[in-house]
Amino acid sequence: MPELSGIDTYIIKTVEWCNLDCTYCYFYHGQDTSFEKRPRHMSRAIIEAFVPKMIEHSQAHGIDFVHLTFHGGEPLLQSKEDFTWMMEQFDRIDAAGIRTARKLTTNGVTLTDEWAELMARYNTHLAISLDGSREVHDAARVDLAGRGSYDRVIRGLRNALKWEGKGLNVGTITVLNPTENGSDLYQHLRSLGVKSINLILPEANYVTPIPVVNPDRSYAQLLKEIFDAWVEENDDSVDIGFFGDVVRAVAGLPASSDQFGFAPVRVAVLETDGSVQPTDNFRSCADGMVELGINIFRDSIDDLYYHDFFQLCINQQAFIPEECGGCKFVNVCGGGRISTRYSREEGFKRKSVHCDALYGILDHAAKTLQKNSLA
Ligand code: SF4
Repeated sequence: MPELSGIDTYIIKTVEWCNLDCTYCYFYHGQDTSFEKRPRHMSRAIIEAFVPKMIEHSQAHGIDFVHLTFHGGEPLLQSKEDFTWMMEQFDRIDAAGIRTARKLTTNGVTLTDEWAELMARYNTHLAISLDGSREVHDAARVDLAGRGSYDRVIRGLRNALKWEGKGLNVGTITVLNPTENGSDLYQHLRSLGVKSINLILPEANYVTPIPVVNPDRSYAQLLKEIFDAWVEENDDSVDIGFFGDVVRAVAGLPASSDQFGFAPVRVAVLETDGSVQPTDNFRSCADGMVELGINIFRDSIDDLYYHDFFQLCINQQAFIPEECGGCKFVNVCGGGRISTRYSREEGFKRKSVHCDALYGILDHAAKTLQKNSLA
């Protein structure tokens, strides 16, 4: 396989404030405080500077397909006029021969039918944060007055699903919480009509602890319960990105997610002050870690790409933690997502704080696949 070069995924922080105050948010409750100094909204001048520079970077590295994700804060706090204008600017990237996959990640609270129709016009993949049942979701995903957001998110999800397949590709993002049985979580998402499910282990490391620990159910157990429910339903149209990666990993194929250490992190974040930074998972590690002094008005995307810190992200497989020696999954897991390995004393040299969950689901998937192939 030819070596991949350059950045192919851009997180565009169009709005850097939020109408929710989720208890585990690594952005507003992590180690990094740089958001306090930045503008709340991205100006059009930043996008005008960004588009030609990302085209130049893509062409120089032979990249003909890029992922562009509207992100926040909460991107639906942007005006529809600004969203439309930005989408039209991104059309210039396609016109330059670089195909764009457009995604928007939202908390769903203000997802009206008008927003859904507008995003459908631009063939958007929409990812709505929903953590499970009302009880689990409302325990963490609260608004600024401390009220749960479940009902508002479900209303937003229903608005979005009306446009599913008509320009909108609708999915959910669930930050895993072992309070709930995994089978119940899966059935709940499916009962709402969700077919594209993204599961995320909570952002944590040796500085920022895992937010919810249930002595009666580990994250590994939770993942196994969801995996079994998914296998049991046996519906090919249900896509769970995390498990797709798990299955690919145990089958010896490259993973596409950085939840496993071997997938290179080729992600840049564009901030509301024009800063260009590595993936913002590092905000849970240390204050200012992603502030590399690179700005879209002055610098090129290559300046980020060739920065030592960014190259460390790309080459994280060169930093396999010693603690992983002897693990039968070291060649597929690689020690886990680099940000989850961080400790103040040893940098990224520890194994992931989610090791138990990663080992548990890899082992379970391998055994399930083996059993099914023998059946
Ligand atoms: S499962 Fe744990 S020990 Fe094995 S490679 Fe992953 S992080 Fe390391």
